[in-house]
Amino acid sequence: MRLPFFIDVAIIGAGAAGLGAARALADSPLSVAILEARDRIGGRAWTIQAAPDVTFDLGCGWLHSADKNSFVAIAGQLGFAVNKELPPWRERAYGDTFPQSERDDFARALDGFYERAREAAQQRDEGPAARCLDPGNRWNPMIDAISTYINGCELDSVSILDMDAYEDTDLNWRVRRGYGALIAAYGEPCAVVKNCNVTQIDHSDKRIRLNTSQGTLEADKVIVTVPTNLIADEAIRFSPPLPSKVDAARGLPLGVNDKVMLALEGAEAFPPEGNLRGATMRTAMGTYHLRPFGQPCVEGFFGGRFARELEQAGDGALAAQSIDEIAGLLGNDIRRKLHPLAESRWARDPFARGAYSHALPGHAGDRAILAAPVDGRIFFAGEATSPNFFSTAHGARDSGERAAREVLQTLAKA
Ligand SMILES: Cc1cc2nc3c(=O)[nH]c(=O)nc-3n(C[C@H](O)[C@H](O)[C@H](O)COP(=O)(O)OP(=O)(O)OC[C@H]3O[C@@H](n4cnc5c(N)ncnc54)[C@H](O)[C@@H]3O)c2cc1C
Repeated sequence: MRLPFFIDVAIIGAGAAGLGAARALADSPLSVAILEARDRIGGRAWTIQAAPDVTFDLGCGWLHSADKNSFVAIAGQLGFAVNKELPPWRERAYGDTFPQSERDDFARALDGFYERAREAAQQRDEGPAARCLDPGNRWNPMIDAISTYINGCELDSVSILDMDAYEDTDLNWRVRRGYGALIAAYGEPCAVVKNCNVTQIDHSDKRIRLNTSQGTLEADKVIVTVPTNLIADEAIRFSPPLPSKVDAARGLPLGVNDKVMLALEGAEAFPPEGNLRGATMRTAMGTYHLRPFGQPCVEGFFGGRFARELEQAGDGALAAQSIDEIAGLLGNDIRRKLHPLAESRWARDPFARGAYSHALPGHAGDRAILAAPVDGRIFFAGEATSPNFFSTAHGARDSGERAAREVLQTLAKA
């Protein structure tokens, strides 16, 4: 689609949030277009074919809180089969690298941590979640590692109150064809101007003017769905400035998470859907999913400072680290069976600049500040604006729908 001169509603970003907003406005009388900086839709949802027999979600992969996840019903409508098998991370340890008795001990320590966090949140404790660790507990580094997977950062950077606000129903499902593929199919009917990088939102006049890499567009309403790090860095500027939005975005930075996919020769010798992790007592470690969907591969996952360091170390560093770590757990013979296929680098991605948002200590209230509309003309969506499903794809989609409703409410009032 070419950039129009005027549109009723311009949506910035064709990730789950922008697509959710556009779909919700589809039956309205309003003209709507999504302006997307990339040459594809989906944003942080992106499925690739890493090899002819390996489908790989570089971004979101799990339908978290599946019983409350709006993409489950959408998958049904679009003919994407949903896989409801248990995820590997708790129940499916492979080999004896992390024996069951140790896992049980670790699970108890983790549960204790979450219980203390719940109690602290009930007291409205806005401090860092690291405060809820049991001092001296031997599992603390691994609990911190779990935080890097869930929050994209270590517990010293996470607000207790915000962490507790996340609604985890403990049901995590998947789609065989890829979550990114599902979200791309969901966005198929939407009008999207691709390769259209919005740099400024000028709301000084009656009509909002958007400066983009393809020229200028005027709109009555704008829905902003770009990741918080781009608002915080002022990669997209408001004129006149909106300092409360920039401050809120800075309180909700994106952490770092990255995935790597390795081909596994002789895969039949390994169980499908296994989890490989060592009781390493380090925070800087990967976690490995053996043969997801039975495919001949291993998927590695990294988070926090360690993921950032690996990204900075350059192309191939995630794969090299994974192979070293897996060889450390299973023996050197495995090295010749593992071959790098693909890896993500979300922190270095100019239109993401990280993986997903967490609230810094003292900043749990920033989600509501970021989500609030400005003058009934500029609306905000995106995973970081979700009060309970932040950091997820369905939270992003639902927030887009919420912003679309807000747009429609302003029309009803007019
Ligand atoms: C490694 C990783 C694993 C994850 N795992 C899961 C998981 O298992 N389950 C889950 O639910 N979630 C997961 N997530 C999070 C999930 O992918 C995101 O929360 C969700 O996709 C965010 O959607 P969004 O629409 O808010 O933002 P985005 O998807 O980032 O969409 C924003 C869009 O705005 C565009 N944009 C940015 N700047 C501009 C600009 N100036 N002009 C125009 N367009 C612009 C971007 O290109 C992008 O397409 C994961 C993410 C990562 C990185």
